[in-house]
Parts: sequence; structure tokens; C-alpha cells
Amino acid sequence: MEWDLSDLYASPEDPRLFQDLEAALALAQGLDPKDLLKPDRTADLLARYEKALELTYKPLNYASLYFATRTQDPGAKALLDRVRNRYTEVKNRLVPLEVALRKLPEEAFQALLAHPGLMDLRHFLERQRAYAPYTLSEREEELLNLKALVGRSAWSQFYTEYTGRFRFLVRGQELTEMEVRALRRDPDPEVRREAHQVLYGRLLEEAPTLSAVFNAVYLDYLQDLRLRNYGNPLEPVALRDEVEVRDIEALLSATESFYPLVERYYLWKAKKLGQEKTPSQDLLAPLGGKPKVPFEEAKEMVLEAFRRFSPEVEGIAREFFEKRWIDVYPRPGKRGGAFCSGGLPSTHPYVLLNHTDDLDSAHTLAHELGHGVHFYLAREQRLLNFGASTPLAETASVFAEILLDDLLLERLSGEERTLLLAERVEDAINTLFRQVMYTFFEKRSLLARQEAALSPEAFHRIWQEEQRRLYGEGVAWTELDQSAWAGIPHFVHYRFYTYSYALGYLVVLALYGRYREEGKAFVPKYLEVLKAGEKTSPKEILAQAGVELASEAFFRYGFGVLEDWIKALP
Ligand SMILES: [Zn+2]
Repeated sequence: MEWDLSDLYASPEDPRLFQDLEAALALAQGLDPKDLLKPDRTADLLARYEKALELTYKPLNYASLYFATRTQDPGAKALLDRVRNRYTEVKNRLVPLEVALRKLPEEAFQALLAHPGLMDLRHFLERQRAYAPYTLSEREEELLNLKALVGRSAWSQFYTEYTGRFRFLVRGQELTEMEVRALRRDPDPEVRREAHQVLYGRLLEEAPTLSAVFNAVYLDYLQDLRLRNYGNPLEPVALRDEVEVRDIEALLSATESFYPLVERYYLWKAKKLGQEKTPSQDLLAPLGGKPKVPFEEAKEMVLEAFRRFSPEVEGIAREFFEKRWIDVYPRPGKRGGAFCSGGLPSTHPYVLLNHTDDLDSAHTLAHELGHGVHFYLAREQRLLNFGASTPLAETASVFAEILLDDLLLERLSGEERTLLLAERVEDAINTLFRQVMYTFFEKRSLLARQEAALSPEAFHRIWQEEQRRLYGEGVAWTELDQSAWAGIPHFVHYRFYTYSYALGYLVVLALYGRYREEGKAFVPKYLEVLKAGEKTSPKEILAQAGVELASEAFFRYGFGVLEDWIKALP
């Protein structure tokens, strides 16, 4: 099944496409930031701002989707380039209004918040101002941006280019890092051992160079915190995710208190592998083959899983097939992977897959349709409140995968069932526990950087300690494993990004825990969460569904689900 993009534009030649971009440009030019000082005019000003965004997102959405299935077509590439240039032009014209809003005198800003005509944009307005207290003068920001090009950004770029040139020799074949990482899941233990050896051996050799990069970007961050008067290294990320630093701290310590579950799982896996402890090279070892699932069967399973949860959700998912909002199979020129493109409140989402008739593909279908349902329901919101904030971005997708697993666990038996359960647990360990371990590593090494630059050995030591804490006696480590930190690009490009994977995952588990307990009564509350888009903060949205983010109950529900999965392993 190939998707039908004609709901957006009839064809790449559709004259409306460039007419929309022209109209967006005209609208953007007509925006007068001074209208922010006249609250009666601000609602209209922001409506025109929003319309300009819509008229530029829609052509971009079309051109990107059109290109996604024709990456070798020069016409599709040219269209995307042309639209992107126009898009950038419009966005640049919107900047003065965005800057004016961020810098509005506090009194004038409060007048906007209090204005009845702007009630539904309160959260949007507050978000624009969130970083204001930490923003320096215009000149200072300009200097910092300039210097970042030869500082932080240059180090990031260096890391990407340098590690991108790594090649690994496995069985006479020269592999990229991506390829060698994939071999850690190979069914052949010898292949896994070799992949493990060349990958971590190389990282160990490169640790002196890579630790210099870490030391530089860490120092840059510490300086930034000081210059901008942040009180805590976690504050910028808390601000972005609209949570409190203490919520993040609570997440870290709650997860830590459940670390023994991870040890327990790897002791179990070791037994399956005929070992006493799971060898570190077998952390990702598959425990068996996977059943074949043709697309039609996957589709029926996902729809059935959705129907059991809510006929409304099933109905929405069906529309994707009936109205051809989904592009299913790989074909020449089509990009790889899978995604859901959210679209706009005035259009609808599209899903791209590369279905390969296996169980992983069925999970991907559930995942992307989950995103699809989320965007579909969030269309109740206007564009400025549309979408999903970071902590809720993966809610519907991961929830959908759990619903599919529930159905499969009922249908499968014996070894197949065990394998599925084990996979679900490993997913949880990698998305939740491992990301928390990364955060502990990052916190400790960053704090140590405050005193002095860290030697490669110092990084190794912190990594090993955190790793041992997480896996306990469950895993047998080798000398090589101490260097894994050097191969995690998140540590170079962002600060404390990995914690948000853990938070997002726990949100899903907590919601699912409530569903398990409340049954059908919970469904409308869940749908409200999806419909809320970004109208308010994630904390408020979840509170409306009776889930208090980072509360004691939140963790109890979330980890309760996980505990039961692990206990269910035979
Ligand atoms: Zn996703």
C-alpha cells in the first residue's frame, strides 16, 4: 500500500503549493511586534502568526513526504530544496515577533496573560518566556553564539567526523560502527564476541582523544551554567521538559531502588544462555528466532489490540488504511526506517513503514500508528497548541506496543511467549534503567570536571562503577567494557538528554498501570491526555488523567508493571 498525499496538494505542480508559501511570506511581513503592547490586538496578531506557520508547514510537510518515497528523484529533491528555502525565509521573518515576545517587559507580558482573548494561548506564551531569566544581553548572546562555532559546535562536529571514520574488521569485512553495533545482536555467539571485541577495543584505544572532547564540552556547559545563573546542572533540561529538578532527582532515585530487577533479569538470561552470569558480549544476544508476520496479519493484530482497548482508537487507526495515510513496503528510492509525520490540525498525520513481514515490523506498525492516533486526536488543538511535549512524545506509541504485546502474549505459548516477554523486559531495561545509568554517569563525571579535567581512566572508573551498580552480579564484564561511554554520542551533543527517555517510558508504564487497575474507566482519561496536545504542561495534562508525575504513586504504578513482566518469566 502506497500513501495518497493528495489531501495536502494534488501534485508537485499544484499551483496552491507555492501560493501558500507566498501568502505565508506576505502574512509574516505584515506582523507588527508592537501589537504585543496592545493586548486587544495581540490575539489577532498571534492568529496571523499561526496562519503564516500553517501556510509554510503544509508545503514543507508535502515536499518532505513526497521526497521520502523518491529520494533518487532529482525533481523531488529540487521541490524539497525550493520549499525549504521559502520556509526558512518565512521563519526568518517571524523572528522579530518571537524575540519581542521573549523580551516583553514583565508588566506588558502579564497584561497578555490576563487578557480573556488570549486564554487558550497562556501555555504557549509562558513557554516563549521560559528561558528569559537565563538569557543574557543581545550582545552577549551574539558573542556566545559566535564563539560556540569554534567551541561546543566544533567539538561536536569533530566527534561526529572522527568517530564516523572508524572502520571495524569482522571476518575479513570492513564495517561501519552502525554495522558492527548491529552484530551484537547476531544469533552466532562467535560473531557477537568478535563485534564486541573490535568495537570496545577501538573505543579503549581512542579514549585519550575522545576524553579530550568530553572534557571540552563539559567545561563549556559548566561555564554556560555559571554565566546564565543556573543553580543546578539539570535545570536547563528540566525547563525544556517543564518538570522540576526534584522530579528528575526523584526519577533517578526511584529507578535506582529498582536496580535489583535488572540483576535478576540478567541472571535469568544467563541461565537461558547456559552461563552463570550473562557475558557482557551477550547483553543483546537474541534468545531465539522470531515468528513471521505478513503485513495483513500484522494489521489485523494491531487493529484487534487497539479495539480491545478502545473502539474509538481502532476506528482512527482504520482510517489510516482506508484513506491511504500509510506507505507500507520498502521499494527502490524510498528512505529506510519508519516514522509518523504529525501534520497539522487542518490536515492529518501520515505513517511511513518499511515492513518486512516479521514481528519487529508488527511492533513498528503499532508504534507508528500509536503516534498517528496521538496526532489525530491532538487536532482538537489550534496549531500553536498542537503536538506533544518531550515527556509525552512517545506516550501513545509505546502504549500501543504494549497493547499489541498483551494480545500476543495471550495468543503465543511456550518458548515463543517467553521470548516475547524477555524482549519486552530488555526493551524496558534499555529505555529506562540504562538511560538512568547514563544520567548518573553524566552527573558524576560533570561534577568531577568542575574540579579538573578527567583522565580517560577517571571516565573508565566512573563508568565501571555505574555499570556494576546497575547490573549487580548479573553480568560478567571484561576489561574492554570500561570504554563504552566514549561511544555514546548523546554525551557529546547534548546535556542530560538520556534521562528524558526514562521519564517518557515511565509515563507510559504509569498510565498503563492505571489502565490495568481501572480498566475501561481509564480509557476516556487516556484519550484526554492525547487530545490535550501541548495546551498545558505535561504535568497538568497527566494530572487531569489522575496521574501525578514523579509522585510516589507514579513510580509505584510504573515499576509495578515492570516487576510483573519480570516475574512472569518462567
Ligand atoms: Zn516513536
